Amino acid sequence: MPKKYSFNCKDMGMDCDFKAENEKKDALIAKIGEHAKKAHNLEVNEELMKKVEHAIKKV
Ligand SMILES: [Zn+2]
Repeated sequence: MPKKYSFNCKDMGMDCDFKAENEKKDALIAKIGEHAKKAHNLEVNEELMKKVEHAIKKV
Protein backbone atom coordinates (compact mmCIF):
# COMPACT_ATOMS: atom_id res chain seq x y z
CA MET A 1 0.00 0.00 0.00
CA PRO A 2 1.48 3.33 -0.98
CA LYS A 3 1.34 5.95 1.69
CA LYS A 4 -0.97 8.87 1.22
CA TYR A 5 -1.41 12.29 2.62
CA SER A 6 -4.80 13.04 4.03
CA PHE A 7 -6.52 16.27 4.97
CA ASN A 8 -9.80 16.97 6.76
CA CYS A 9 -11.06 20.51 6.77
CA LYS A 10 -12.51 19.84 10.22
CA ASP A 11 -8.95 19.59 11.55
CA MET A 12 -8.58 23.25 10.66
CA GLY A 13 -11.41 24.05 13.02
CA MET A 14 -13.84 24.49 10.16
CA ASP A 15 -17.44 23.35 10.17
CA CYS A 16 -16.87 21.68 6.83
CA ASP A 17 -16.91 18.15 5.50
CA PHE A 18 -14.24 18.64 2.87
CA LYS A 19 -11.72 15.82 2.79
CA ALA A 20 -8.90 15.23 0.38
CA GLU A 21 -6.08 12.78 -0.04
CA ASN A 22 -3.26 12.40 -2.44
CA GLU A 23 -0.04 10.45 -2.71
CA LYS A 24 1.75 13.69 -3.46
CA LYS A 25 1.82 16.28 -0.73
CA ASP A 26 2.28 19.17 -3.15
CA ALA A 27 -0.79 18.16 -5.13
CA LEU A 28 -2.81 17.82 -1.95
CA ILE A 29 -1.72 21.24 -0.73
CA ALA A 30 -2.66 22.79 -4.07
CA LYS A 31 -6.11 21.26 -3.82
CA ILE A 32 -6.55 22.47 -0.25
CA GLY A 33 -5.51 25.96 -1.26
CA GLU A 34 -8.16 25.99 -3.96
CA HIS A 35 -10.77 24.76 -1.51
CA ALA A 36 -9.83 27.36 1.09
CA LYS A 37 -10.25 30.11 -1.46
CA LYS A 38 -13.48 28.89 -3.01
CA ALA A 39 -15.31 27.48 -0.01
CA HIS A 40 -14.04 29.67 2.81
CA ASN A 41 -12.91 32.80 1.04
CA LEU A 42 -9.57 32.50 2.80
CA GLU A 43 -6.43 34.19 1.65
CA VAL A 44 -3.85 31.52 0.89
CA ASN A 45 -0.78 32.85 2.62
CA GLU A 46 2.17 31.45 4.51
CA GLU A 47 0.34 31.40 7.81
CA LEU A 48 -2.59 29.44 6.39
CA MET A 49 -0.27 27.02 4.67
CA LYS A 50 1.54 26.35 7.93
CA LYS A 51 -1.76 25.39 9.52
CA VAL A 52 -2.61 23.24 6.52
CA GLU A 53 0.72 21.41 6.72
CA HIS A 54 0.05 20.79 10.38
CA ALA A 55 -3.38 19.34 9.66
CA ILE A 56 -2.12 16.97 6.95
CA LYS A 57 -1.75 13.40 8.11
CA LYS A 58 0.09 10.50 6.59
CA VAL A 59 -2.15 7.50 6.19
ZN1 LIG B 1 -13.54 23.40 4.06
